[in-house]
Amino acid sequence: MHLESLEIAGFKSFPKKTSLEFTSPITGIVGPNGSGKSNIAEAFRFVLGEQSIKSLRGKRGEDMIWNGGGDSGGGTGGARANRASAKLVFDNRRKLFPSVDFDEVAIERVVYRDNTNEYLLNSSQVRLKDIVELLGSAHIGATGHHIISQGEADRILSASVRERRDMIEDALGLKVYQWKKVESLRKLERTEENMKQVESLRREIAPHIKFLKKQVEKAEKAEELRRELVAMYQDYFAREDGYISAEKARLGGELAGPKNELAELEAELERTKKIITGSKNKDAKGLEIVKLEGELDRSRTEKDSIVRELGRLEGEMAAHKRAIEREKEKQKREESKTVELLDVEEIVEKVASLEAVADAKALFKEVMDLLKSFVARHRAASGSAAIADLERDTSEVSHKHQGLEEKFRHLMGAEKELVREYNNLKSAVEKEKDTDREAEKDVFRIIARQNEIRNTVAVLTAGMNAIARAEENLKRELAEAGMVAGREAIQYTVLKLPHGPRSEQEERLRKIERNKVRLEDSGASGASEVMKEYKETEERDAFLARELVDLEKAKAELRSLIAELDLRIDHEFKTGISKINAEFQKFFTLMFGGGMARLEVVKEMRRKKKSETEELGSMLSADETMAEAEEGEGPEGLDVDVSLPRKKIKGLMMLSGGERALTSIALLFAVSQVNPPPFIILDETDAALDEANSKKYGDMIEDLSKHSQLILITHNRETMSRSGVLYGITMGSDGASKLLSIAFEEAMAVAK
Ligand code: ATP
Repeated sequence: MHLESLEIAGFKSFPKKTSLEFTSPITGIVGPNGSGKSNIAEAFRFVLGEQSIKSLRGKRGEDMIWNGGGDSGGGTGGARANRASAKLVFDNRRKLFPSVDFDEVAIERVVYRDNTNEYLLNSSQVRLKDIVELLGSAHIGATGHHIISQGEADRILSASVRERRDMIEDALGLKVYQWKKVESLRKLERTEENMKQVESLRREIAPHIKFLKKQVEKAEKAEELRRELVAMYQDYFAREDGYISAEKARLGGELAGPKNELAELEAELERTKKIITGSKNKDAKGLEIVKLEGELDRSRTEKDSIVRELGRLEGEMAAHKRAIEREKEKQKREESKTVELLDVEEIVEKVASLEAVADAKALFKEVMDLLKSFVARHRAASGSAAIADLERDTSEVSHKHQGLEEKFRHLMGAEKELVREYNNLKSAVEKEKDTDREAEKDVFRIIARQNEIRNTVAVLTAGMNAIARAEENLKRELAEAGMVAGREAIQYTVLKLPHGPRSEQEERLRKIERNKVRLEDSGASGASEVMKEYKETEERDAFLARELVDLEKAKAELRSLIAELDLRIDHEFKTGISKINAEFQKFFTLMFGGGMARLEVVKEMRRKKKSETEELGSMLSADETMAEAEEGEGPEGLDVDVSLPRKKIKGLMMLSGGERALTSIALLFAVSQVNPPPFIILDETDAALDEANSKKYGDMIEDLSKHSQLILITHNRETMSRSGVLYGITMGSDGASKLLSIAFEEAMAVAK
């Protein structure tokens, strides 16, 4: 036996704490009409979490609470109570409630006048849901199929096919699975919602990833360009540096001899000139020679400096030319320049906001102005200006160059004249075989030799100048390279090997310039941040993708769990029905001495096809009431098919009141036999039975009490006689019910 006691206080007609001990398999409760017997059955319903107050014969929770006695005659009832409580105590030593570790389980419900409810499990407050689940695990269902209230004996017969199925499912202990199913459906919905959220998150970051990926590609391309540029620079610098040092050495070596000779000749010329000017017989010719020599020397010096300056200007022009080429290259790239979408949107917005402009022409002008300023803003305006500046500088330089060339030509003309005079003088002097002219002849010889060597020196010096310019350029290029391509670019090892023609180096430099422009153009700054953000965003996306896979898996698992539960419910329902039918037929035959009775699974018309979510929504809101959640989903219901022996009539509608009572008792007992609940409460189920049937009823009760504890509210003598314990309930003039434990003979008196 599992049920130990019921304790009520302030409940309906029981103002005082009243305790019923259930020490026998059959407990009878007797008493006159209106004494409060049915309130005991209701206390059971109440504590088991029955939600419909209506089925508890009261409209409000407040109706459950003792409302005060009607009589002043010193009764015990007195003032109305503020709370009603009922507590059921179970023996849990045989683990009726497997989830509770205590040997005793006390379930208590309290209702207050403000209609608030409390549920307690072994004195700790819990939720109604916990109680319902706990009871479900002990096969004490929420539909109360095991508590048959007064006049409700044929509830199972008068119920709709759907309700009947519900009762039977409850009795068969299938509600646990139904609950699991509802929970799984709820989880499924949450999972699907999560999936939607994750999917939308992924959709949101997808364009950002795409954008970042492009940025990263750009950065990678820029890095590739930079590496290329570094290699190009290193190659170029190695050759250039090698070339410059080699040339410097070569020219220096080649210049040494002629320079020495020139210095010697100069000294010799000075000596000779002194001889001429210091001689006693110096003449006009000799002086003329000295003068001419001086003039020629000055002219040559001037020519030298002009040549040097020309070389410098040419170098400058070449540098300008390269700069112009670079700017042009930049501009060419502008043609395919990418503009930020935000900027375009901004201009579109501006154009869109021009509606206030009066006529079409004015509007067109406004739009054009906007577009022009947009283009101007995005084109590197400095580009063309820089080219113009450079071109102006170049033309200035080339103008200077021309001027110098002119001067040079002029000097050449003047020199020619000097040379002519000098040659005349020379031939005149040479004709004179006079030894006195030895000094003059020496001057001619020296000058001729000087001319020869000077030409050589001039060529070599021009080379030296060119090298000096190349060295300056190299310095500039090195500084620029470090800035554009990083330190690596200027870490090279000088190439000592023979170098190719200069045009090849120039071509290399041109290529470098082109690459430099491309690199600058790629706007690869902040590459590492972009890389980091891209990595992070992609990791996040991968995480979301993994989560989606997990959710998909969870969804599939839930679906298969639901399908499994459906199968299980269906299987257990059908096998349960056939077991019930066997018992039903047995009890029915026992009662009527023959005939046929059985439950039949029938298809119920679907009310309306609800969508899955709607259905789920109603399940969620209906939280506690399974019946509603199931509506429209389970098309199968249960019909009762009966035919009485020796009678032609068939069907429930044709039964008399007594026959109906017997049939429902037979079904009730059949159900209880197949899946016995821990206790059954029957409130005057036997009221309509005649003596013969009362006897049969009594036999069946004894049979039933082997599996379930019975609490029988009755006026029936036969039923009383089968009870192991009898409680009498009386009501005093104060309207309060009183409980007394009595013997069978007393019971008969009390019941009257
Ligand atoms: P019967 O044999 O006729 O079925 P019964 O013994 O089952 O009678 P109940 O229906 O249990 O009697 O008791 C009803 C009594 O309880 C009524 O007298 C009713 O006034 C009383 N009652 C119900 N609710 C309250 C309440 N909140 N406060 C006080 N008395 C109440």
